[in-house]
Amino acid sequence: MNIKAQVTNLVPYKPGKQTDEVKKEFGLSEIVKLASNENPFGYSPKIDEWFKENGVNHAIYPDGYATKLRHSLSELYSLQPEQFILGNGSDEVIQIISRALLEPGKNTVMPAPSFPQYKHNAIIEGAEVIEIPLIDGAHDLTKMAEAVNEDTTIVWVCSPNNPTGSYINNEDLRSFLNNIPPHVLIVLDEAYHEYVQAEDYYDAISLIHDYSNVVVLRTFSKAYGLAGFRVGYGMASESIIQAIEPVRAPFNTSVLGQVAADTALSDQSFIESSKKANRQGLEQYYQFCEEMSVDYFPSQGNFILIDFDRDGDELFQALMEHGFIVRSGKGLGFPTSLRISIGSKEQNEQLIHALRGILQQ
Ligand SMILES: *Cc1c(COP(=O)(O)O)cnc(C)c1O
Repeated sequence: MNIKAQVTNLVPYKPGKQTDEVKKEFGLSEIVKLASNENPFGYSPKIDEWFKENGVNHAIYPDGYATKLRHSLSELYSLQPEQFILGNGSDEVIQIISRALLEPGKNTVMPAPSFPQYKHNAIIEGAEVIEIPLIDGAHDLTKMAEAVNEDTTIVWVCSPNNPTGSYINNEDLRSFLNNIPPHVLIVLDEAYHEYVQAEDYYDAISLIHDYSNVVVLRTFSKAYGLAGFRVGYGMASESIIQAIEPVRAPFNTSVLGQVAADTALSDQSFIESSKKANRQGLEQYYQFCEEMSVDYFPSQGNFILIDFDRDGDELFQALMEHGFIVRSGKGLGFPTSLRISIGSKEQNEQLIHALRGILQQ
């Protein structure tokens, strides 16, 4: 077989431990999983209502253009329907963009550590990866802009950044965008947009109006609570969308995913209450960190990266034995940290209680 050389060196994505597995291994009856930034409150009740009242014919291909969902998005953001590309999760939109723009001889600039799929896809396409280290958990926008050259095709920006939770304010982002030449596509990954509280945050929709080389990625997997349905999207100028659309597989979003996402959009009060509870949950962790004198990054997402100054894998293991699955910082570029998704008030209390016990041992 002639596997591409760059692919032979890649390892497949290693999924976190499944709940059932952990239950069995440690003889636990209940597991709280706060590892993948899912919504602890699930999703809008309107979705189950829709499925109770409506049948779906599974024998029929989906609408490949996701017309209804596309029009709902267009209405929500006051953009043209042609300004959206739908994906099987925003993961797939990352892949589509990479396939369309990256190849050997080209390079792509990204922050590090950040969401691993930018690099993963770039390697598969054979492009050079230029990683610019974060400063205190935040993008080094100056260095990122300096790294751009004539062979650069994509610059990745993740705000709020996974795994640090840091964000970029409007002024900084706009002066950065002004420094990026128009031949470069800037991908602004906003998987956690719905959770942002910062008042000096930018408005992504006006960025799309002002910069014809910006594409904004969002997803139904995080605040909307629909990770299992796999729906994400990109929004940009019509010309960018038109240019990358040929790479998209014709039926990449499912019938069920389209319906669930469309119904979810109609219940913005669910998003509001999730956001509010998330803010209160973050406060629980901030207070705990202050109490224990451990370092953390203030977060605009639904997760927090805490540096315990102890081996991340060991802490991860100890928490698992108490029935909590979180993410060790080891694989995320922060070896002495844990990334914890914000849960319900009770879940946060329980996890903090367990952590306190482990740290005081
Ligand atoms: C979760 C996540 C995604 C991917 O989400 P999908 O489920 O594929 O829509 C993309 N970017 C970041 C930063 C994420 O954290």
